[in-house]
Amino acid sequence: MEMKQVSENCFAVLNEKNRVCDANSGLINRAGGVVIDTQSDLPHARKMIEMFSKVWTAMPKRVVNTHEDGDHVWGNQLFDGAEIIAHKSVPERMRHVANPAETRKLLHGVDHLLARLVLKMLHPGVAAAGQQLAEDYNLDGVELVLPTVLFDTRYELNLDGTEVHLIYVGPCHQVGDTIIHVPKDRVVFAGDVLFRQCTPMGWTGSYQKWFQCLDLLVELEPEVIVPGHGPLCGIEGVTEMRAYLQYVRDESRKCFDNGLTSLDAAKRMEFGPYGEWRAPARLYMNVERAYREFRNDPADAPWDSAGTFDAIYQVARAKGIDVEY
Ligand SMILES: [Zn+2]
Repeated sequence: MEMKQVSENCFAVLNEKNRVCDANSGLINRAGGVVIDTQSDLPHARKMIEMFSKVWTAMPKRVVNTHEDGDHVWGNQLFDGAEIIAHKSVPERMRHVANPAETRKLLHGVDHLLARLVLKMLHPGVAAAGQQLAEDYNLDGVELVLPTVLFDTRYELNLDGTEVHLIYVGPCHQVGDTIIHVPKDRVVFAGDVLFRQCTPMGWTGSYQKWFQCLDLLVELEPEVIVPGHGPLCGIEGVTEMRAYLQYVRDESRKCFDNGLTSLDAAKRMEFGPYGEWRAPARLYMNVERAYREFRNDPADAPWDSAGTFDAIYQVARAKGIDVEY
């Protein structure tokens, strides 16, 4: 992990490994400070706090969660007594998608030889994902601490004269997707509507919404964007991701029309330049999302997470690349 100063008042802590759960955090260092997203486990959250504490005067009393996924909210409990701000959908969604007990079970299962063998036979992708997560993360002690201040479409803060705009843009990657714009500093904290140099993983939402959100990011004319995952960027990061999503959607349409399953489509589709990004086999999820739209499935149709990890595993195997999430 490393801390970077992004502008006069804005800072970021970045997880350079850039695999699943390696989420970034932000700090707007005005009026006592606002922390954006709190990392995937307590050791990472403590390290983030230690890094930011080099520039702040005290622990901030405000936290923003950009959405409901565990890798952005599992350090919330370390901000004792803080206001936690998020879109109104987030508390309920967190109970479903960010239950730390579920992921803890996966990590502990991978510790035990027998459980590991059974899992490997039944769900090789789940075993591989669990093993990868266990290399970097330990969910012991994580408790779900839900947001306390909820908003609908927009929420504004004034930090000693510096305006901060929270803009709801979901559902594009997840239901609660929110971006944080600091106009005076020309900075946007994008959460997971922007993945950089790693393959996006989207859960609930539509391509159309995601494109709209990326257009909005361009309109805001930021100088620096802090993505949810990956290194800092400017508008070029948005342009690249838009091109990726467009490419996958177009290719998926052809495969769909030819009667291929989403798994076969992902196995056959060329990675193109995006093969350089981290975890390119996560392509499967983007193909499956396109298929869901072509089939007119509801945007909130649930994912079989074991089946999804296994499908990514199979795509990586078919392509002859390392299995990585
Ligand atoms: Zn994330």
